[in-house]
Amino acid sequence: MPELPEVETIRRQLAPLVEGRTLRALEISDPRWCEPLPPEALQDALAGRRVERLRRRGKYMLWEAQDDVTLLLHLRMTGTLLYDAPEGTPYRRVRFALDDGHALSFHDPRRFGTGELAVGAEALRDFLDARLGVEPLGPDFTTERLRIEARGRRAPVKAFLLDQRRVAGVGNIYADEALFRARIHPLTPAGRLKRAQLAALHDAVRIVLNAGIDAGGSTIDDFRHADGVRGSFQDDFLVHTRQGEPCPVCGDEIVKLVAAGRGTYVCQSCQRPPRGARVRSRRAAL
Ligand SMILES: [Zn+2]
Repeated sequence: MPELPEVETIRRQLAPLVEGRTLRALEISDPRWCEPLPPEALQDALAGRRVERLRRRGKYMLWEAQDDVTLLLHLRMTGTLLYDAPEGTPYRRVRFALDDGHALSFHDPRRFGTGELAVGAEALRDFLDARLGVEPLGPDFTTERLRIEARGRRAPVKAFLLDQRRVAGVGNIYADEALFRARIHPLTPAGRLKRAQLAALHDAVRIVLNAGIDAGGSTIDDFRHADGVRGSFQDDFLVHTRQGEPCPVCGDEIVKLVAAGRGTYVCQSCQRPPRGARVRSRRAAL
């Protein structure tokens, strides 16, 4: 599933190609993409408007068009945006025709990706505030902010990191990689983290997200860049999907367990399980 670095990778590629261009037409071949709005509503709102800025917030890509009309795109599990994809590229759900003759298309085999509309700056702010917490690469993401968000939370820190209303944009891959680097077991209750651990986690989240962006994202399913190229951060994973391999720090075996309902990869020597979690995690690893 595309996470912050994958969405940011696509955004950086597309921004120079799309900003300043007028959307000539939207061809929505799968109405489920924009439910509950009918395709005509998006076409009417966006066709003929210039895209002023391509922005990202969490895992959302925001097409900010003229008159404060914003298209909010979420790639979900398998969505990819391609620039000038060859005719016949499968799983096309939407095609955006630009005024310079080029086109963007949204391809999505599992069809969970969405397109939503916000009309007016206030509607956009409400939409984002209702869904997304602090932006981890932005200035508001500090150790203190992390401490405030985590305070009193009994949920495992892995679930805390995946909750988009706490920290926006982190998903399964980058949560595992950040927790390993911060030497925190994913089942540790978020509210029980010490200040030094929160500081380490803050730094680790930024480090892994930036490393992911530098590598052009990770490709574990079908993620592709806007030009069809695949990201390479999967080659740099320290623990994610590496069960059975030696920990790069201590050499112990990396195990897979379940945390927050997701396959989770840890070195239980570097990331000491919290009291009471050891038995459960062992059982889950079987
Ligand atoms: Zn280790």
